Amino acid sequence: MNPILASVVMMVAVGGILGLILGIAGQVFYVQPDERTEQVLNMLPGYNCGACGYPGCAGMAEGLVGGEVANVSLCKPSNADQRKQIATYLNETPGPDGKTLPVKP
Ligand code: SF4
Repeated sequence: MNPILASVVMMVAVGGILGLILGIAGQVFYVQPDERTEQVLNMLPGYNCGACGYPGCAGMAEGLVGGEVANVSLCKPSNADQRKQIATYLNETPGPDGKTLPVKP
């Protein structure tokens, strides 16, 4: 067989096998996204100031939904209405695991 043709066939075969492995791994290790993170992010002030200790509001939203943050008042620029809205939403809306979060305003 022509060495160039053999190497092309080999590269296509290896690429196909690796693609198949990646596809299967993507299905096996798929993590259900928690839609509450996006909702909480939309309720935060959106200043991305970092006063909460996270690099931006997205980090704070992930911290709240992930259970790392138990008090919305960590976000200093937020007002009382925003804090209460976020806490109520997380207290009443279950995540993919069916559990709600005991977050305080
Ligand atoms: S303190 Fe509030 S506004 Fe500032 S980054 Fe954190 S969540 Fe966003």
